[in-house]
Amino acid sequence: MNSNGHRRRIDRAHHHPHVRKVRGTWAWDCDCGGASCRTVHPPLEWNDAVGEALRHSATIAA
Ligand SMILES: [Zn+2]
Repeated sequence: MNSNGHRRRIDRAHHHPHVRKVRGTWAWDCDCGGASCRTVHPPLEWNDAVGEALRHSATIAA
């Protein structure tokens, strides 16, 4: 019997961020509700957005 409460529900341990171009700048958002800040002043370059998205996807949700 395994009753230690370690059950799986929704897969929140993995992120699936999407990088896309929004109003001339690059942004990412994720199915978990995470997203890049939309009011950053120097607009994100594509590689910045990808880098942030990758960093986000490396995060394991608690
Ligand atoms: Zn996420």
